[in-house]
Amino acid sequence: METEARAEPGTGTMTAPEAAPFVNMRDPASRLGPDGKPAVSRRAPKWQDVPDEKWNDWRWQLSNRVNDLDEIAEILELTEEEREGLAADDKFRVDITPYFVSLIDPKDPEDPIRRQVIPLGREQSAFVGMMEDSLGEDRHSPVPGLVHRYPDRVLMLITTQCATYCRYCTRSRIVGDATQNFNRKDHEAQLDYIRRTPQIRDVLISGGDGLTLAPKLLESVIRALREIPHVEIIRIGSRVPVFLPQRIDDELCEMLAKYHPIWLNIHVNHANEITPELARACDKLTRAGIPLGNQSVLLAGVNDCVNIQRDLVHGLVEMRVRPYYLYQCDLVEGSGHFRTPVGKGLEIIEGLRGHTSGYAVPTYVIDAPGGGGKIPVMPNYLVSYSDHKIVLRNYEGYITTYEEPLEYKQHDKAHCHACQHPRQEAGQGGIHALLQGERMWIEPAGFEQVHERGNQQAHRLQESSKWVPYGVGAIEGSVAGDGRGLPVLEAGAPSAYGAGEEPRPAEGAPTATANHELL
Ligand SMILES: *Cc1c(COP(=O)(O)O)cnc(C)c1O
Ligand code: SF4
Repeated sequence: METEARAEPGTGTMTAPEAAPFVNMRDPASRLGPDGKPAVSRRAPKWQDVPDEKWNDWRWQLSNRVNDLDEIAEILELTEEEREGLAADDKFRVDITPYFVSLIDPKDPEDPIRRQVIPLGREQSAFVGMMEDSLGEDRHSPVPGLVHRYPDRVLMLITTQCATYCRYCTRSRIVGDATQNFNRKDHEAQLDYIRRTPQIRDVLISGGDGLTLAPKLLESVIRALREIPHVEIIRIGSRVPVFLPQRIDDELCEMLAKYHPIWLNIHVNHANEITPELARACDKLTRAGIPLGNQSVLLAGVNDCVNIQRDLVHGLVEMRVRPYYLYQCDLVEGSGHFRTPVGKGLEIIEGLRGHTSGYAVPTYVIDAPGGGGKIPVMPNYLVSYSDHKIVLRNYEGYITTYEEPLEYKQHDKAHCHACQHPRQEAGQGGIHALLQGERMWIEPAGFEQVHERGNQQAHRLQESSKWVPYGVGAIEGSVAGDGRGLPVLEAGAPSAYGAGEEPRPAEGAPTATANHELL
């Protein structure tokens, strides 16, 4: 093959190589299976004989969802506690697409996909701080299903239905309940409020999951929004690409592309959800001009691990999906056993920021209990904390608290695939290594030599240029070298003290504390 491209002797001309179509093996949407055809995910044996046309038809997937104990027991080896969870009468709705339930390892009770969709008995347990409507959404709804919390944008709930139901759903008070669904009349009231409220420039369609709506009805809502002159952007929050990638067909993408600018956030919590089917769905949406983001929820036993999160965000950016938010789990009924301390989220961000591409690092947020919106967990917003409570303030100065879980089962590194196979390049240490327990301290340069002498204080005193402000003038109330305050060095001047010698106020002069009191 190689010789074909070489110059033919004597002629001085090149023959072009046979133009073979380029296959981009890096692009997850182009990945091929062992048979040379587009890669596909595992199918549970129950559906092995279903023809591909049916399997790939989103309507078939929706109408063949599994919800009942006996049916699920055919697919997964259920534990006692799962049986108890599935048998509970007043549980949050269970319904899982054949595609998504097939991604679960039937033998592994800790499978991260399984934990998101199969109920446990303990999801019925109450916990301190638990609320039905923990974000105070109903209180912030001027019309049913429309949450107007921020000045310039609204959340528009157009359905209570989802393709599959997540055990920790923040809206479990209405989601899944067909009797509480929103209809055309509700949509019209929501649209009317938006029309009458010109400060709304951004509308976030959610639910439930807006992409489960009948295609015509969905288009009518989006078109009506686009006809409102002050609506600048339309956003959709949807887990359909994850639960039902078959729904992301050309027809849907062409429809959405008519109403740009449209942005879409998907919701992936673990790299096991990143399949060839999801990658192709994301590719289609991206090609339709829709920028994609991801929102994930920090869940104990699913993704409360830096290495799992790193695999997740790397998988997302490969699909051109930008990690947007990492949510602290809400104080909502049913989610007690999923909750982690806030320190876990901070540890994850510490392990991502700088260690990987900035594009891959989400913002870690707590959706304010009581309804103050998403608050980033970072210094200006974190007001205070105790061993079980976090005090936060939002952009308006609203101050709220988040109650941490009293019980948290720590992540089991020994049985975590991601922890046993982490990326190992140099420079992955830092503060992250301290949090991981790999090291106990990090010493600044020059520390060791003094440390050897057993005098840990001396290291900053031996060389006063290390700790005396340089070039900023005298500290108020002190005169260089007069012994009353801190000595101030002239640029290039030799230190007034010998190595290890402590600067001390002159006999009878006020001490630093006394000095402070005098001020
Ligand atoms: C999440 C949310 C939004 C959008 O918030 P961003 O931080 O802009 O993504 C808007 N309204 C409500 C009620 C929300 O919960
Ligand atoms: S997809 Fe969203 S709205 Fe639906 S159950 Fe899951 S978290 Fe709740």
